[in-house]
Amino acid sequence: MIKVSSDVVIIGGGIVGISIAYHLAKKGCSNVIVLEKERLIGSGSTSKGAGGIRQQFSSEINIRLSMESVKIFEQLADELGCKDLFYQNGYLFLLSTEEEMESFKKNVILQRDMGLEVDILSPDDVKSMIPFVNTDDLLGATFCGTDGYADTDGVLQGFAREAKRLGVEIYLQTEVEGIEVKNGKVCRIKTGRGDIETHMLVNAAGPYSAIIGKMAGIDLPVRPFRRQIFITEPMSFIPDSMPMVIDFHTRFYCRKESGGLLMGGGEKKELSSFDTNVDWDSLEILAEKGIHRIPAIKDAKIKRGWAGLYSITPDFNPILGRVPRVEGFICAVGFSGHGFMHSPVTGKLISELIIDGEASTIDLSPLSINRFEDKDKIVPEQNVI
Ligand SMILES: Cc1cc2nc3c(=O)[nH]c(=O)nc-3n(C[C@H](O)[C@H](O)[C@H](O)COP(=O)(O)OP(=O)(O)OC[C@H]3O[C@@H](n4cnc5c(N)ncnc54)[C@H](O)[C@@H]3O)c2cc1C
Repeated sequence: MIKVSSDVVIIGGGIVGISIAYHLAKKGCSNVIVLEKERLIGSGSTSKGAGGIRQQFSSEINIRLSMESVKIFEQLADELGCKDLFYQNGYLFLLSTEEEMESFKKNVILQRDMGLEVDILSPDDVKSMIPFVNTDDLLGATFCGTDGYADTDGVLQGFAREAKRLGVEIYLQTEVEGIEVKNGKVCRIKTGRGDIETHMLVNAAGPYSAIIGKMAGIDLPVRPFRRQIFITEPMSFIPDSMPMVIDFHTRFYCRKESGGLLMGGGEKKELSSFDTNVDWDSLEILAEKGIHRIPAIKDAKIKRGWAGLYSITPDFNPILGRVPRVEGFICAVGFSGHGFMHSPVTGKLISELIIDGEASTIDLSPLSINRFEDKDKIVPEQNVI
């Protein structure tokens, strides 16, 4: 049996929904239900990511979201009673054109102004940091040592365990089929297992969030796009300290994983779809870019590959907060490839919004859905992978 009413209903048991549930409960609001249509939490985009966490963005709002999230990630293992969740090996952006150098130097000025330590490196610096990177056609790089990557499943399970301990209920195999809105207010969520009365829902349905919006008559500009990751067999030359390496010109990225390389990015342009079948032709395109940058992977054997979905908005930034005309409908959607890294602060911000009436850690107005009504208010993120 599921509960027939709740103070807050969160739609989506991915990292975003579970982080919001945890932060609500931590702040004292535990009459919270998370609804997840699949058999397991994290079955959507959350289990398909690379776990990357970076603060090197072009827009102030993304730098702020990341810096606040990194503060949380840095003490999360202690908070959740786990060990080794966050590996601060840094992010290295490799730059090949004058235009890239110029725009990254501008970003570094903004990032440093905001208190982030970022270095601008020469090709020789890159070579001494990672000798197996081909630097022949590079003009430079940027590096932030407090960036890194984390164990996505460890963070998800830790948030879920603590949320449940504090009273949150997570219903699996419970698909939301409708939302009842009366007099402009959310009043009921219809699921395959019964209805739940509530005046507050959070849409954290990832790539499916526009479908959830439609159920309440809201048009959310969030579309799904396939992205893929491939993992090689172990290779002895990769040190444990290897940072996440982004070849910005081709968007090829890689980091160490299980002794081999986790590789992604640089795919061909695709139309929006919910397709999560692996496109093995894409591996060829990615391998060509990868071998150019790291020639030593020429004979690498691929042992796994998978595809997942990015949820993309017109400016590549999430939509966080209330929507006009439907009271009690809150969005935490449209994270592109940044939803894992921004999940801790998103949980904190949405819990502040619900409990205190306003988010105080960061001003959410640049992420309001209203920004799409006025093109001048849109500041697209430039550092998108
Ligand atoms: C290949 C790849 C690499 C990535 N790399 C990174 C990275 O390095 N760093 C980073 O920060 N991010 C990365 N991302 C992005 C990141 O994975 C996502 O932004 C993040 O997981 C989004 O979490 P979410 O909770 O919003 O969505 P999801 O994890 O998709 O969760 C949404 C949940 O809602 C459920 N749901 C949907 N509709 C309903 C319904 N009607 N009823 C009930 N439940 C419903 C779904 O089943 C799903 O479990 C990557 C993504 C991909 C695909």
